[in-house]
Amino acid sequence: MVIKGIVSRIESKDYYVFPASGEDNVRCSLPGKFKNDIKLKKDKQYLTDIVAVGDYVDYELNADGTGVINNIEARENYLSRKVPKIRGSGFKGERLEQIVASNIDNFFIVSSVANPPFNYKTLDRILVAGESSGLNISIVINKVDLDENFIGFWKKLYKNIGYNVFMTSAVSNEGIDKLKIQLLGKKNLFFGQSGVGKSSLINKMYSELNLKTGIISGFTDRGTHTTVTSVMIKIDPTTYVIDTPGIREIAPYGVLKQDLSHYFIEFLEFQKNCKFNTCTHSHEPGCAVNEAVQNGEITGERYDSYLRILETIEEDSQL
Ligand code: GDP
Ligand code: ZN
Repeated sequence: MVIKGIVSRIESKDYYVFPASGEDNVRCSLPGKFKNDIKLKKDKQYLTDIVAVGDYVDYELNADGTGVINNIEARENYLSRKVPKIRGSGFKGERLEQIVASNIDNFFIVSSVANPPFNYKTLDRILVAGESSGLNISIVINKVDLDENFIGFWKKLYKNIGYNVFMTSAVSNEGIDKLKIQLLGKKNLFFGQSGVGKSSLINKMYSELNLKTGIISGFTDRGTHTTVTSVMIKIDPTTYVIDTPGIREIAPYGVLKQDLSHYFIEFLEFQKNCKFNTCTHSHEPGCAVNEAVQNGEITGERYDSYLRILETIEEDSQL
């Protein structure tokens, strides 16, 4: 009998799947044929790329209660990141793609007012990853109990661009209910620097479920190969939350230099007026994006982030 489910967690060669109906994860294996299919497409690929957290799969049950995955449905979307260096990868500087999670309805980028300090460059890098993956993005600024005044500047900056910004505190409970409403009936991915409070927020929102913190934040990478540690939690039959406790950094995967400005969404209306259609908005004459920065229509902070990311893309392609 074929059962439908959703992948919630991957540990080495074990794929944990939530059945479409039912509460408990079923531990599944993945037959070798899937790995062979992938090998045909690319020379080297991470095992975690074949199946990702969030994937819809079909599986069959074994007599002992474990399962065997026999079909992986096409992904609606996914967030991926570039893996800087992998043991055994082909050649120096080779960059591989790692899928953080798939089929995401809401992508919450979590930052904090302090501890760690708010870092707009990190936020902008994650925004590029989210935009280039076509995700529905919201920004969460957590720990507002620590200092609400200072952070107003950044809240306004990102709101003006057009992003949803949630101000929250897992200590004072500010903004928790407002955030929780957004998650209902959706698959929600939480992503951000370690220590910003992702696990605390998830625990606050769903305290009635008595989620063991260990399940969320204590899930660490034990194996030597699996470095993606996304964990999906089932809140109710239609609401899921994916925490990413093991992922510290994200380098957007597959973003080309000439496409980067598309993912700085407030640049779009200006860049069509650049003198050269190959303009990278860095040094070219007649650049309308640069002009908009001079006029204050694009903030210097965002432009600064843009240039820094542009530089790293250039470095990549020289490797
Ligand atoms: P994660 O790594 O993003 O999952 O962060 P955690 O949820 O583990 O939180 C990191 C630290 O920040 C912990 O010591 C939390 O108690 C603390 N923390 C989380 N949220 C808040 C908050 O809203 N305000 C304050 N003051 N501390 C918080
Ligand atoms: Zn330009």
